[in-house]
Amino acid sequence: MLARIASACLASGRNESDVELVAITKNHPAEVVAELVDLGHWHFGENRDQEASPKSLRLAEIRPDSKPTWHFVGQLQSNKVKSVLRYARVIHSIDRASLVSELAKQLPKFEGSYSGFIELNLTADPGRGGVLPENLPALAESVLNLENFELLGVMAVAGLGEDPKAEFEKVLTASRKLQELAPSANQLSIGMSEDFEVAIALGATHIRVGSAITGPRPTNA
Ligand SMILES: *Cc1c(COP(=O)(O)O)cnc(C)c1O
Repeated sequence: MLARIASACLASGRNESDVELVAITKNHPAEVVAELVDLGHWHFGENRDQEASPKSLRLAEIRPDSKPTWHFVGQLQSNKVKSVLRYARVIHSIDRASLVSELAKQLPKFEGSYSGFIELNLTADPGRGGVLPENLPALAESVLNLENFELLGVMAVAGLGEDPKAEFEKVLTASRKLQELAPSANQLSIGMSEDFEVAIALGATHIRVGSAITGPRPTNA
């Protein structure tokens, strides 16, 4: 995996240290996360609080000296925000005003610093996670007003069956729009197992890779 990232960086003239590998461990037990910790990895991502919350506690039990950074990458219901902030430091999936309001309410109760991304919906289906690109600036304004929270940039999932390059170019366009408002929010959380090499070539700073690291996921019943 690291070799594939290294060669994708080399091919596009990027530094490996500028691409954060977030290992997505959903559907895998804490023991799998522990194995990755033992290999020296510490950025992990999860998409459901019901699973991630006990897993983060279990990891702390079986690897008490580990200091993992948990990333939350899935759709985030407002009533889960409080729980997610207990373990996750980076939220990749900010996608609506009501979620930002809940973050504004909960963040002051927590110590340490938080950061994250606004998720873009690249499809025409408003029911999918993410904000439509035309609504990004308004949402960004409210995220920029959060205390104790740094807006890093935009996140997106390429549509199933779509050309990832074309999909990620839409993200780059939205990212440039965002940087007009917030020049430092220039990071890109794009790229998964199937398309991270394309994402690296286009400037990904965070790739969220699951099955290419852990093998196929056990399916949840
Ligand atoms: C599951 C998931 C990933 C990782 O998917 P793989 O195809 O296994 O690499 C990345 N991002 C999000 C939001 C996910 O839910």
